[in-house]
Amino acid sequence: MADPALVARIMKLANSSLYGLSKRVDSLAQATVLIGTQNLKNIALSFAIVQDFQEARQGSFDVNLFWRRAISTAVAAEILAKNIGHNDHDIFISALLQDIGVLIMFLSDAAAFTEVLDKKRVSGKSLCETEKEQFGFDHTEIGNHLLDTWNLPDTICGPIRYHHSKEPKEPFRNSALILGFADKMSAMYHGTQSNKKAIEVRQGLKVIYQFEDEQIDGIVDAIGEKACEIMELFTIKPGDMKPFSQIMQEAIEELGRMNFSYEQLVLELKQAKQNAEQLAINLKQANDSLRELVFRDGLTGLYNHRYFQEVIESELQRSVRYKHPLSLLLIDIDYFKNVNDTFGHPAGDLVLKEVSQVMLKLVRQIDIVARYGGEEFAIIMPETGKVSGKVLAQRIRRGIEQHQTKNNNQLITVTVSIGLVSTDMANIEITRKVLIDQSDQALYKAKRNGRNRIEM
Ligand code: GH3
Ligand code: MG
Ligand code: MG
Repeated sequence: MADPALVARIMKLANSSLYGLSKRVDSLAQATVLIGTQNLKNIALSFAIVQDFQEARQGSFDVNLFWRRAISTAVAAEILAKNIGHNDHDIFISALLQDIGVLIMFLSDAAAFTEVLDKKRVSGKSLCETEKEQFGFDHTEIGNHLLDTWNLPDTICGPIRYHHSKEPKEPFRNSALILGFADKMSAMYHGTQSNKKAIEVRQGLKVIYQFEDEQIDGIVDAIGEKACEIMELFTIKPGDMKPFSQIMQEAIEELGRMNFSYEQLVLELKQAKQNAEQLAINLKQANDSLRELVFRDGLTGLYNHRYFQEVIESELQRSVRYKHPLSLLLIDIDYFKNVNDTFGHPAGDLVLKEVSQVMLKLVRQIDIVARYGGEEFAIIMPETGKVSGKVLAQRIRRGIEQHQTKNNNQLITVTVSIGLVSTDMANIEITRKVLIDQSDQALYKAKRNGRNRIEM
């Protein structure tokens, strides 16, 4: 070990908080005594490898991030091993190199490996699974193979081989488990799913090592602090390593957001349901008013000619089916042209409106009053024969005759002529056309016979 720069870095590492030595180490000899030959060799090797592969920086792969993560993982493994009393001199370098297979894969075929990363992101499968699909082997196998050809001992290679395995083989089980946890803890600082990893680590450490929450927080915090210190020794920039407290804060906030968004979702669903129901009501109302618009006369508010034609047809069929009588009145205002000529068209309109109201007031609930044309009206009277038909017609004729329309200071009175037809007047079944024609003729008769009267 002749490289003075390397020796200086080893001294710094030996004196770093990672080893927590009580005495300051000034020489390699002292370091050998205090941390052991194997550890020193590993430290030197780690520096050399990181250095080598830093220079192999290529394309879109962030080698700096790779090593930042690897160093954090190594520090995490070292701290975790100490906390559970697991004595493994090689745990630091094992953890440091556990994912070197990833780096090798990327450096040998950047495009293919980028594809692996894309597929992983899309499928949600594990990295190992995706690698196996793409290459037929995964990064644990590649890493193990590389370190094997470097003649590194099985104590380093073994845990790496099993670090993604669910059932790591003895005697590497404990170290492999530590590598797995260390990887996740490191991902809390450098990965994209910090919160997910934080939850996994917390649950895993509780189940396997019976750790308390506070102990876990302490370990993770220590990893963040110490990793920054060690990175400098590897001349790796720590980048934006957030303090653990901040990561946890963000995790809590995200959990809060998740709760909020769940409640929000429920609320929004409820509102959407209410909106849909309100919409249905509005639609029905719109439909109803559209129907009204289609079937109502704009000036008088009475049913229009179209509606009259529909109803007269259905009422006629009903009267035939139940053998109940039906009466139809056709009503025409007498000399209405004179009203317009004398008082003006707007006054004529007013008279039409008021005559309509008079009729509505005088008919029964079941009767249907329609504006048949200009100053002509029709009233359909279901369940009504000629006798009661005539009584009702008289009531209407008289009511209109007695009504006075106030227009400014003038009082306008009008009379009507009425043609009445009842289905019980004929022995044969009558059609709508016949019914209307007959009432029209009756109305004509009433006009001819002097107006302000009823004819049948
Ligand atoms: P008759 O007794 O023979 O029925 O005479 P009349 O003047 O009432 O009959 P005519 O059919 O000759 O005239 C009807 C008048 O009604 C003509 C038209 O200007 C008027 N009229 C029709 N619709 C309206 C309306 O909506 N508003 C007003 N103000 N007048 C209308
Ligand atoms: Mg008229
Ligand atoms: Mg007329």
